[in-house]
Amino acid sequence: MESIYLKRNREDRISQGYPWIFADDISSLPLLEASEAGTLFKVCDSRGKFISTAYSDSNIKLVARVISSQSIKELDVGFFISKLSEANEKRAGLKSEFYRLCNSEGDFLPGLIIDRFASIFSIKFTTDGLFRYRKEVIEAISQLFKVDGMVVRHGNEQFEIGSIPDEIVVKEDDISFLCDLKKGQKTGWYFDQRENHALVAKLAKDKSVLDVFSYNGGFGVKAAKFGAKKVCFIDSSERAIDYCKRNIELNNCQSKCEYMNEDALDGLFRIKEDYDIVVLDPPPFIKSKKDKVAGVKGYKKLVELAIPLVKNGGYLFFATCSHHMFMNDVLELLDQTSRELSYKTEVLSKMGAAADHPVHKLVPQTRYLNAVLVKISKS
Ligand code: SAH
Repeated sequence: MESIYLKRNREDRISQGYPWIFADDISSLPLLEASEAGTLFKVCDSRGKFISTAYSDSNIKLVARVISSQSIKELDVGFFISKLSEANEKRAGLKSEFYRLCNSEGDFLPGLIIDRFASIFSIKFTTDGLFRYRKEVIEAISQLFKVDGMVVRHGNEQFEIGSIPDEIVVKEDDISFLCDLKKGQKTGWYFDQRENHALVAKLAKDKSVLDVFSYNGGFGVKAAKFGAKKVCFIDSSERAIDYCKRNIELNNCQSKCEYMNEDALDGLFRIKEDYDIVVLDPPPFIKSKKDKVAGVKGYKKLVELAIPLVKNGGYLFFATCSHHMFMNDVLELLDQTSRELSYKTEVLSKMGAAADHPVHKLVPQTRYLNAVLVKISKS
């Protein structure tokens, strides 16, 4: 196995366990660039001392990712069995068969996301380098679990193994949600919001709830199940709104429900009544650093329309899943916007992604979900 050498002034953070190696970090770039994505290299400091093992990738800036602090020769089935059983152990406390089994860098397997839906696995490869090892990953999962089917995604490519029903039931805290793993968004379900769905639901008894960007109803259906007197869902996807309706029926919810299949801004603009709880869970508005100013403006517009729809003393739950938007940005946005509109906000909870989405302590991008629950009063 060949070695790549870090430049002297770039050694520290990679020695400390930072998993991303950029083109500027190494003096042996041509060797790495000439390799097929997924080739293993020994990462050495400038004097040749071994630090870790990394695989090369086709990204022109982020050229390699550390896969082990040990010297390993190949990423075989045994390697993935050991990493995935370790990841699975960490989730034992969830006492569920529905969870994120592997969270890429957060589980020291950069490039690999696996969501488990009992005997069905939704797998997303986020790098070409790790995609090279798809057979080994699939085999490792098959050896560790009872598997009926897998959906595998990489870029725009998608294939299925075994039998995947057109829709499956996800269980979240004993509540059932229908979702579609083959055509659904992301890996099919937003496990990262599990604890936040519960946080909102606990406040919902006898309350009215506006679930904006509802997808299949994670917030709204759970709130209805916890006794909300009214829930209104807004999503621009017709499929998502259809699933909200069916998930309300599936759970025999008694709440009065309204469904708005339209753009969130249009919907918020049109709504005339106010709600005890408003949930805003938009898709990422900031895809790269240079879009931050425009993205923050987009979030601000939403918040400006949402705050006046919260009853005096009611709650706003706001989440951003853009890794360029930090908790401080979220707090500042809410504080500034509420003051401009003459409302007072009190932050009740600061939340992130659920516990089965571990973060890598040196990679702030793995802390991508920042959510807050605030109490809103007229000042
Ligand atoms: N709240 C959901 C996840 C939301 S994902 C949960 O907890 O499970 C974001 C959702 O926003 C998707 O369902 C997508 O269809 C919807 N969406 C994207 N752009 C939108 C827009 N402009 N207006 C309304 N909904 C939108």
